[in-house]
Amino acid sequence: MPALPLKQAPYFELPFSLGDSLGYLFNIWRPFNQRFLLLMLAIAAWTWFTPSLERARHFELDWMLEIALRNLVIVLVVAGGLHLLLFTFRRQGDDEHYDARPLVKNSKIFHFGNQVWDNMFWTLAGSLPIGTLWECLLLWAYANGHATLVTFAENPVWFIGLMLIVPIWSGFHFYWYHRLGHVEPLYRWFHSWHHKNVNTGPWSGHAMHPVEHLFLYSDLAIYFFVASHPVHVIFNAMLHTVTGPTSHCGYHRVRLTRFFSLQLGDFMHQLHHRYCDCNYGSYETPWDKVFGSFHDGTPAGDQLIKNRRRQLFEKKNQTVRT
Ligand SMILES: [Zn+2]
Ligand SMILES: [Zn+2]
Repeated sequence: MPALPLKQAPYFELPFSLGDSLGYLFNIWRPFNQRFLLLMLAIAAWTWFTPSLERARHFELDWMLEIALRNLVIVLVVAGGLHLLLFTFRRQGDDEHYDARPLVKNSKIFHFGNQVWDNMFWTLAGSLPIGTLWECLLLWAYANGHATLVTFAENPVWFIGLMLIVPIWSGFHFYWYHRLGHVEPLYRWFHSWHHKNVNTGPWSGHAMHPVEHLFLYSDLAIYFFVASHPVHVIFNAMLHTVTGPTSHCGYHRVRLTRFFSLQLGDFMHQLHHRYCDCNYGSYETPWDKVFGSFHDGTPAGDQLIKNRRRQLFEKKNQTVRT
């Protein structure tokens, strides 16, 4: 377990503290942290591995496949690399592993009877093409003036400000679409596919029903309405494409080399996979606290969720009786 109790971003804590919020922002964006590296990746992807807007004026397979290829390489390196490092070669054994049970084999729950094969299949056959299509749609929109393009040179304050907002917007969107996915029959039809993974590995991040992939990336739709740049879109997409595998990797800190380790695991979301009815959002959304579903990882958090379950159960029984 990481240091407990888990703490959410201070932006939404009352009373509001500007110092705490700025401190959190400096820490989360500091060089060589995951978020900083994601931003570097987004800038590199836009500069060298994204077709020009000129080419994106019409939907053509060639430029769309170039984006798909770039995303495929990223997924293979991140999810595949972490899987090899942590689960095949077991480079750090169970050190900082949230749940030491092995990933599931020979089980009818998963497609192909194997958790990793199931997870890989839905990542590559569902998430990759759907996430890529969302990105292509936005590029096409910038190229044709359906989305307002703003460059760093034109408005650096807005450009940087929006970059800081992107993860908060993405977390906000994630909470609401994810919370909806836990309502029947949507849970049974779609989201339960993701929850087959009680113990998760890097490939579990995108192991979802393809309908859910459509919603996962739908936060990109906001760039039709907000003046932005393709780098914002790519960065937002990377928050799913890369953070999906890293947050589900099952290890809190991953030692990538002898001298460099990164905090990649997400204990808050790990608890969501374990209990299913808490921690629907991210560290940067207030909604779990507002609606009483925030589990901070401590025994007090266990009790809070148990009480909430009992209340919901009693409410349901009352409704049935009346
Ligand atoms: Zn998950
Ligand atoms: Zn869920």
